Amino acid sequence: MSENNTRSQLLLEDEALRDGLQIEPQIFTIDQKIELFNLLKNAGIGRIQVGAFVHPKIVPQMADTDELINNLGDQGGTVISALILNDKGLERALACRVQHVSMSVSVSDSHSRKNARLSAADALAGMVDLIKNAGSEGLEVRAGLQSAFGCVYEGAISESAVLTAAEKMVAAGVDEINLADSTGMANPQTIRSLVSLVGQQFPGVSISLHLHDTRGLGLANMFSGYEAGVRVFDVCAGGLGGCPFIKGAAGNVPTEDAVHMFESMGIATGIDLKSLLSAVDYLENGLGRSLPGRMKRVLDFQQNCDN
Ligand SMILES: [Zn+2]
Repeated sequence: MSENNTRSQLLLEDEALRDGLQIEPQIFTIDQKIELFNLLKNAGIGRIQVGAFVHPKIVPQMADTDELINNLGDQGGTVISALILNDKGLERALACRVQHVSMSVSVSDSHSRKNARLSAADALAGMVDLIKNAGSEGLEVRAGLQSAFGCVYEGAISESAVLTAAEKMVAAGVDEINLADSTGMANPQTIRSLVSLVGQQFPGVSISLHLHDTRGLGLANMFSGYEAGVRVFDVCAGGLGGCPFIKGAAGNVPTEDAVHMFESMGIATGIDLKSLLSAVDYLENGLGRSLPGRMKRVLDFQQNCDN
C-alpha cells in the first residue's frame, strides 16, 4: 500500500452501539446508549458508530438514532458515525448534522438478495449514487463491501469482483473503502492479498477492515491487515454482534482484545484498556450475560488473584 492511503496512526472504530446492539432482542434505552457512548469516548475511542438511519419497523433497536445523535451533539475530537442505506437515511443524517456516514453492500449476490433483497449489482449501483449524494453534501463517506473475503452461500469471492466494485466507489468519491469479512471466512493470507491489491489500485483512498471473529481468526486477520498497511479497524466492545443472515456468525473483534494486541507490541491505540473495560462491563450488565472478549476475563482474574 502506498504512503497515501496509510494513516500513520491507528484508528479503532467501535461499533457496539450499531453492529452490536442492532441484533439484540433487548433494546437499549437512549440513556443507556449515551452512557455507553461516554464510556467508549472516555476510554479514547476515536470514531464511534452510534446507530443506523434505517426503517424503525425493520430495526427497532436503531429507531432512536436521530434522537441519540441530537443528544450527543458535538463531541470534539471523537467522530460520530452512523450507517445509512438510502437517500431517506442521508436526509435524516443531514438533519442531525452528522459529519461521517457509513454505508455498505454485499459483493455476494446471494447474500445481497437475502440481506437487502437486491441483486449485488443493483445494490452497488444504489450505493454509488448514495456516495455521490453524501459527498456533495460535504459528508465524509466510508463505503463497505460485505462478504469481501468469502460468502457462506457462494463460497470464495473473487478479488476481481471486489476490485470492480471498489473502482466504482472510488470514481464516486468515497473517502474510505471498508472491506468486510462478514462471514469470518478470511485468513491472514487472503487479507494481505486483497488489501495489497486494493491499496495498489487505489492509492489515494483509505482502507479499513471489518472483521467478524466467527472462525477465531479475527485478531490474526487484523494483524495481517495492519502489516499490509491498514490503519483503520472496526471493533465491538466485548465482541458483541453477529449477523441474522449468516448462521453461526460471531461479532466483530472485541475492542479490548485488539487494544491489548496492539499495545503489547508497542503500537499505540490511544485507548486506555482499563477504562475501556468499564464499557464492556456496562454492556454485560445491561445485557445480563458475558460477552466473548477475552481481556475482561483476564484482568478480572488477575485482580482476584491480587486480592
Ligand atoms: Zn458486521
